[in-house]
Amino acid sequence: MSIPIGPVLYLSGIPVVLLASALAVNFGNLWLALLGGYLMALGVTALMSGLWPAKKFRPDRRDYREALFIVAIALMLNELLFGPFATHLSGLLSAYFLPSPYVEMVRALPFWVALPVALVLYEGIGYLLHRISHAWSPLWQRVHSVHHEVEHFGVPLSFRLSYAEFFLHQMTRLLLVQLTQIDSAVIVTVIALATYGVFVSHANTSLRFGRMSRYLNTPDFHVWHHDPTLRVNYSIGLLSVFDRLGGTQHDSDSVPDRLGIDGLAQRRSVLETVMLRPLHEASDDSSREYERPA
Ligand SMILES: [Zn+2]
Repeated sequence: MSIPIGPVLYLSGIPVVLLASALAVNFGNLWLALLGGYLMALGVTALMSGLWPAKKFRPDRRDYREALFIVAIALMLNELLFGPFATHLSGLLSAYFLPSPYVEMVRALPFWVALPVALVLYEGIGYLLHRISHAWSPLWQRVHSVHHEVEHFGVPLSFRLSYAEFFLHQMTRLLLVQLTQIDSAVIVTVIALATYGVFVSHANTSLRFGRMSRYLNTPDFHVWHHDPTLRVNYSIGLLSVFDRLGGTQHDSDSVPDRLGIDGLAQRRSVLETVMLRPLHEASDDSSREYERPA
């Protein structure tokens, strides 16, 4: 019996992310948990892509170079815009608007109860935001189409996001989850798990994941989201169950013929990406009829 390498690799990274988060919380440094999640995600993704690469859609040097620039800009802007405020928001809001019995009840939840609740909430909001980002023209043309411009599928694609996309997710789903008053150690662990899912689901790999794709966001599930002819598999992060709930799932043993955006003459540069230049030349995703999976 052959070992299902893809599922084993994917699953074995999850306890490591949890362990890294637990250690970071123990040391009192929550950012270490995020760093642990990032490194684990990159490690597993590099392993899948390096040892079992897919023949199609491989990223080239330009894709890696662009990803590095985008990461540098995003990290810098993130720190400038959110650094001083991020940790104070939920505390401020709770003091004035939430009844104290509720806050005490949420704070008393055991870690292993709060974690799945926060994960489903965080990723569920992410799924909805992602669908809105395709359906609403300004968000599609100026923001989310950046992530769909390229025809490769690999690690650089997981970084190829407009800064407005970082902003949108920071100001909506992170804030909403913070508003619940769930402990910040739980929220950081959720972000580490979701980040792990984002990276691994963009791995350029020939590994297959089978039935696991029904529950977790695997590369062979997420690649169909980048097929220019379908609008399916919107789940982002670790879980893929939201597509099943939303009726947007597409399960297939094959891979798409092509990726990217039909009718795109030229993709934006990194600076254009950050400056939110609208993508008029591409087909307008927001005006398309929803295409049902076969
Ligand atoms: Zn998308």
